[in-house]
Order: sequence, then C-alpha cells, then structure tokens
Amino acid sequence: MDSSTRSLLFITLGCAKNEVDTDRMRSLLSAAGYDEASDVESADLVIINTCSFLASATSESIETTLELADEVASGVRSVPIVMCGCVPSRYGDDLPDELPEVAAFVRADEEDGIVGVVDSLLGVERAVPAHIPQIKRTVEGSVAYLKISDGCDRFCSFCAIPYIRGRYHSRSASSIIDEARDLVAGGVRELVLIGQDTGIWGQDLPEESEGPHNLAQLLVAVAEAVRPEHVWVRVLYLQPEGMTDELISAIRDTPEVLPYIDIPVQHCSARVLDAMNRSGSEEELDELFARLRREIPGMVIRTTYLVAFPGETDDEHEAMLAFMDRTGFDYTSVFAYSREDGTRAAKMDGQIDEELKLERTQAAMDLAESLGFAATAAHVGEVAEVIVDGIEETEDGPELIGHAWFQAPDCDGAVHLDIDEAGVGDILKVEFTDSFCYELIGHVVE
Ligand code: SF4
Repeated sequence: MDSSTRSLLFITLGCAKNEVDTDRMRSLLSAAGYDEASDVESADLVIINTCSFLASATSESIETTLELADEVASGVRSVPIVMCGCVPSRYGDDLPDELPEVAAFVRADEEDGIVGVVDSLLGVERAVPAHIPQIKRTVEGSVAYLKISDGCDRFCSFCAIPYIRGRYHSRSASSIIDEARDLVAGGVRELVLIGQDTGIWGQDLPEESEGPHNLAQLLVAVAEAVRPEHVWVRVLYLQPEGMTDELISAIRDTPEVLPYIDIPVQHCSARVLDAMNRSGSEEELDELFARLRREIPGMVIRTTYLVAFPGETDDEHEAMLAFMDRTGFDYTSVFAYSREDGTRAAKMDGQIDEELKLERTQAAMDLAESLGFAATAAHVGEVAEVIVDGIEETEDGPELIGHAWFQAPDCDGAVHLDIDEAGVGDILKVEFTDSFCYELIGHVVE
C-alpha cells in the first residue's frame, strides 16, 4: 500500500507548544508521503494531539476524542484515531482499557516515531525507511512559535508538567537558529520563543558546545540570524529567577527583541510560594518589576496568578490582589487551583472549597480585567507597529485585524484596522484611536 494515497486529519488541543509538536509530526508524515485531510469524511486516519495540563484540559481532550469516535462510527468506513501528546504521557498505561475507541497512543517523547505508527495502522509497507526531515514548519500566518526547550525541572507542587513532559532539555542553538531563519524566509514576521521555562535555556547544553549558552545570547543570535528582515522576537514563560542582568540588557539593546515579558508569578506571598515549591517574596517581586520598568523603556508585563492554592488565607489572597493592583500588570491570566493527580499539592491540607475558590477567582479576574482594559486604553493616542494577521468577519462585514507589538498573539487582544487591503505579515504604523476591552481601533498612518 502506498502512503501517497492516504490523508490524515490533525487536531491540536492545548497550548502553542502542542501546535509546534503537531507541526513536527505533520512534517514527518508529509515527508513520508501522507497528505493532509481537512475533515473526518476525507481522512484515512485522525491524529489528535492532547493537553493534560489541568484536569479540565484532560477532560476536554477525552471528550473531543469520544466525539470524534462517534463521528467516525457514524461514517461509512473505519478511520483509526491516534491519540498523541500529554494525555498518553500522563495516563499511558490506563488508556487502552479506558479508551478502546483509540487505535494507538503516542506519548510526547515518542512522537518522532509517528510515521511507523501510522504506517502500521494503515498497512503501509516501506522498502526504504521514511525520510526524517529537518524540522520544516507549516506556518501559514505571520506568527510562528519556536520551541526552544521541553520538560521542566522546577516541580512546582501544583503542576503535573514535569511528570508529563519529563526533565528539562534545551534544544540545540543551531537547530533553533536554522528554524528561525527558515520561518522568516517563509514569510513569518514574529517569532515567539516558548518552552516550559525559557529563562534557563542552555543550562543543560555541554559547556564546549558552540554558540549561545544562555537565553540572552540565544535571543541576540536569533535576531542576528534573521537580519536584515524586519522581524519581532518575543519570549514567553520566563520565571522570575530567570531575569538576569544579561537578559535584561539583551531585551533592552536588541531591536528585534520586544520589551514584552511574560513572567508567571503565581503568587506574591513568600509562604504560599514556598508551599508551591517556588522561591521569592513580595519584596523581591516588587524590586524585580520596578527594575524591569526602570531598565527597559516601555516594558509590557504579562503574568499569571494561581488562585486558591491549598492553605491560601483571605489575607494572602487580598495581598495578592493588592500586589497585582500596585504592580499594574498589562495582562494577567487567572487560574483557579486545580487538584492534579500525582502532584504534592493534591495531598496538602487546606484544600479550598469550590465556592470560595470561585469567589476568589472572580475577584482576581475582575481586577485583572480592569487593569488590562486600562492598560489597553492607555495606548489610545500612541502610534506603534502592528502586524497584519488577517480578515475577521464582523456584523458590518469583513475587517482587517492585526496585533501590536505589545499584544502577544492569541492571548492579549487585537487591533482592528481602518483599511481594506493589506497582506498578512505586513508591518504597519498605526495610530490607536479608541479601545474596548483588550481591543484597539487603529488608523493606519504608514
Ligand atoms: S515552572 Fe512550575 S508551573 Fe511551570 S511547567 Fe515547570 S513545574 Fe509547571
């Protein structure tokens, strides 16, 4: 049987890191001769890349798989389903009994063997092993996520990621830089560097390896590799301890690197942070954010607050709200603590009941919104660069939208543009004339 007559449907759930993993599987399968299907009806096999970061994400992954299995069962032919990524990594041994609808399970660290799994399910035989391409991405828009590491060594007591994705491992500098160059040559205008803990990139690479050895040096090397193209480089998921002097200088002094920092603080109380197996205190965080704003002009800061961690008192919750308010974060994601199997926090005393958790989460979300809306409105009257992302259908007809440098794609809102035509990836000078919620209205000036 020849793989070239076979089409595969890819479904990706969860975060941008999963999008990158799906892209890797897509490029391996495409190099092995498989086509991509646009729906279940035209697919010979479905690959679902799952998320298991929280219990709710696990449920969504399983529900989506079961809905897909229903759709397949009501069709005229059998279409095997392959479940990949975080759910098999976390619950691997239990899954074949729990989900007989799924033909194969592929853990995150087994995804490079996806061609063999698909070949075997579809009865494809190869005289010569499938070619393994360099990572070749299938990005269509102006933004590409660039994974620089996987896994995590921090073992925050509430988080299952280190058990799902394994120990921290940095990707080599040369493969990151080559991929950045390829993406920009293919039209990408914003590179978003991601990993579970980007700030410690390079720590596990051999000392004698050539090229950059830490994130600051990597950012500079990526920026140099994509010049002279006009490209934005953004880095997400830094931990507070990762903000070294060298990194602050690299962000401030490298024109391509945006003065946008995403630091999930989770809490400000030293006691809660310690129980989370994280370090720091309110004073240290105050000093860090004051320093970032002092040393990096125009600094935009995104953070995360994990609400209602076991044992969080009313006073500690109030202190966190006051800290958010005082720091004036531009963007804050608020997550209610979720009791995750296998984590230390799941066994802690002081689990907070759902009603109080909901109340605290709502209060934090309300504050995060009012801070975020005010930070967005503060851009009205400014002129700044905006990347065009595409067309959105609205009640008044199609509208061009993009995002400004201070808006991380997919999470911080958009800019609605007052022109009818522009290419995806164009970088325009835009004056912001109005705002609503996290959105801005923009008048193109150049
Ligand atoms: S830094 Fe903490 S929260 Fe983030 S992935 Fe690692 S263990 Fe999880």
